[in-house]
Amino acid sequence: MTPGPARWDLAVVGAGPAGAATALGALHADPGLRVALLDRAAFPRDKACGDGVAPHVLDLLAEVGVTGLLDDRTPVGRLRLGRGGLAAERRMARPAWVVPRRILDARLVDAAVAAGARLLRHRVRDLRQHTDAVLLDGEISAAVVVGADGAHSVVRRALGRPRGPVALALRGYAPVAPGRSGAQVIEFGTRHQPSYAWSFDRGDGLANVGYGEFLHRNRPAPTRAQLLERLETLLPGATGGGRHWVGHHLPLSTARWRPPAGRVLLAGDAACLVNPLTGEGIHYAVATGVAAGRAAAAALRAGRPEQAGERYALATRRILLPHLRHTALAARLARSTRVIEAGLRASAADQRVFDDFVELGLAWGRFTPTVALGLGRAFLIPVRPTGRPQEPA
Ligand SMILES: Cc1cc2nc3c(=O)[nH]c(=O)nc-3n(C[C@H](O)[C@H](O)[C@H](O)COP(=O)(O)OP(=O)(O)OC[C@H]3O[C@@H](n4cnc5c(N)ncnc54)[C@H](O)[C@@H]3O)c2cc1C
Repeated sequence: MTPGPARWDLAVVGAGPAGAATALGALHADPGLRVALLDRAAFPRDKACGDGVAPHVLDLLAEVGVTGLLDDRTPVGRLRLGRGGLAAERRMARPAWVVPRRILDARLVDAAVAAGARLLRHRVRDLRQHTDAVLLDGEISAAVVVGADGAHSVVRRALGRPRGPVALALRGYAPVAPGRSGAQVIEFGTRHQPSYAWSFDRGDGLANVGYGEFLHRNRPAPTRAQLLERLETLLPGATGGGRHWVGHHLPLSTARWRPPAGRVLLAGDAACLVNPLTGEGIHYAVATGVAAGRAAAAALRAGRPEQAGERYALATRRILLPHLRHTALAARLARSTRVIEAGLRASAADQRVFDDFVELGLAWGRFTPTVALGLGRAFLIPVRPTGRPQEPA
């Protein structure tokens, strides 16, 4: 690989959805920028994920000139939410996609490179801030740096920012079990709250199946065997013929979104932006990546790269903060079994409640009056006991 210029306008650490979107956001705003996209892995590469892609992701990509990315994939129209025998199954207002990250992320990187980014294989270990630039590992200098290096972000650690609450999840690929085709199926846990198992039909005979749960400080993290056992208990038959099992942490968002000021920005998982209700993170990654790229381009155009962080905060706060407050509240409420069951009954009874829950879990949705009213009504419906098996302790 030929070395690039010694100094870049923008260096993006991590070329997942957040990093590729950062490059796209910056280059769409100013195609003349010198953008380095650094990743420790060679693409295509796998990433532990449920592979569920909200339609809103494609809206964001279209804004930066990327269209038709998933035209060859089969959209998934139905979503089934269940817990211990209660279920709400409905058509989503807009279909979602299930795209293996090996495919999705490589396509996003290709789009960023086509827009003008330079993809460099490099594992970042060290970040130093100087008055006029940021230096990575003593060899890559950039006016602005965006940390898009995932859940265990080196850039976040270099900024001295703590990580908040985390979940742990395991995923594999298995033949779609009978009764679960053409749908995204989510079965909430009965014991280890909050938790859920999923089976997302990829549309090619295989499903992405997995199980994840919130990690409590005073409880040991579940082992791989326990994660698999809990998945199989909640979704019997899901693990049969399963391969490519990988696990990873999910850094969950809280109501306290405070992006750093200055030349070093954070996007996606590096910024601890995973929906605490659903584990969704690709939409946040692309949304904050695009916003970070645009903020960097605007600050560079103004000749004030050190103001990129303030511009990014201003652009993201208005839309992100209210949503994060609402998801934090919903996640807190969802620790109660009674609330989850009321939510399922309300979603089964009313398409609008279902649609609002989907928006809250996948995009910028809020805890709407429709949801509050639906939950209130559902609390009044008496619960019938079910004979479904419980998860092992
Ligand atoms: C099991 C599981 C299931 C999930 N299911 C879903 C789902 O169905 N839908 C959804 O929307 N979200 C899901 N998520 C969350 C989603 O995977 C993340 O939110 C998303 O990948 C965040 O994108 P990102 O670009 O911020 O980080 P990543 O996708 O993690 O990308 C980070 C990149 O940075 C690179 N990198 C890391 N460190 C360095 C370094 N030091 N130097 C250079 N490069 C580095 C990595 O190689 C990687 O390519 C799931 C997560 C897990 C663990």
